[in-house]
Amino acid sequence: MTSKRRPLLAGNWKMNGTRASLDQIKAIGDGVKTSLSEKLDVLLCPPVSLLYVATALCDDSPLAIGAQDCHQKASGAHTGDISAEMIADCFGTHVIVGHSERRRDHDESDDLIRAKAEAAYAADLIAVICIGETEAERKAGETLEVLKRQLGASVPENATAKSTVIAYEPVWAIGTGLTPTLADVAEAHDFIRSTLAERFGEEAKGIRLLYGGSANPGNARVLIAVDNVDGLLVGGASLKAADFLAMYGAYGELLA
Ligand code: PEP
Repeated sequence: MTSKRRPLLAGNWKMNGTRASLDQIKAIGDGVKTSLSEKLDVLLCPPVSLLYVATALCDDSPLAIGAQDCHQKASGAHTGDISAEMIADCFGTHVIVGHSERRRDHDESDDLIRAKAEAAYAADLIAVICIGETEAERKAGETLEVLKRQLGASVPENATAKSTVIAYEPVWAIGTGLTPTLADVAEAHDFIRSTLAERFGEEAKGIRLLYGGSANPGNARVLIAVDNVDGLLVGGASLKAADFLAMYGAYGELLA
């Protein structure tokens, strides 16, 4: 990673975690109270049931707390949904939108994801917009085409480097223990950067691009060293404070 973009290490707990897991959140919050956090952003997205308590637990920590999804509207008759405003009201600062599990389980379209990102901006949240190809699309040689389509339709016109993070998450790598080769990661991230540059010009240089998909303490060092990888979005390995903090520690060498 040769850029001046500030790296972002993000954890996504998905539908995992109860009050019994608050000690892990606290341990992560305490564990990132080091000088390394002057050079690196760290974000944890627990389930929304823990959001408010998590922000309170970590209010003296550089750890940012976010949510995993939001509704595209600010309020209204949408039973079971959470608005971006509500996330901000709980002192959340980020929201993941378009995770492949939302695309798959809830049939979320690129248009809907764009509307959710716009709702995030309206509530002053940073949108972490996920894109990535399925196994079948990769096998068919369609990866870059899919990324281009998803970027075009799910990233809002008014996206900025401050408001937007893009997470490249090959669907087949999520939770499977499989990761693309470093060359494939580099190809995808270079392509995302140049596609964003065609649309957003200079602004695209500041947009952070995360890699996600079976990142763990064993492979973090090599993944974060890939050009145009500005951080990681971590699922399973963010659930245990020790694992997530080991990945945080991997930045020690890179940013020394
Ligand atoms: C994710 O949930 O975004 C993810 C990348 O999961 P995992 O790290 O478990 O593959």
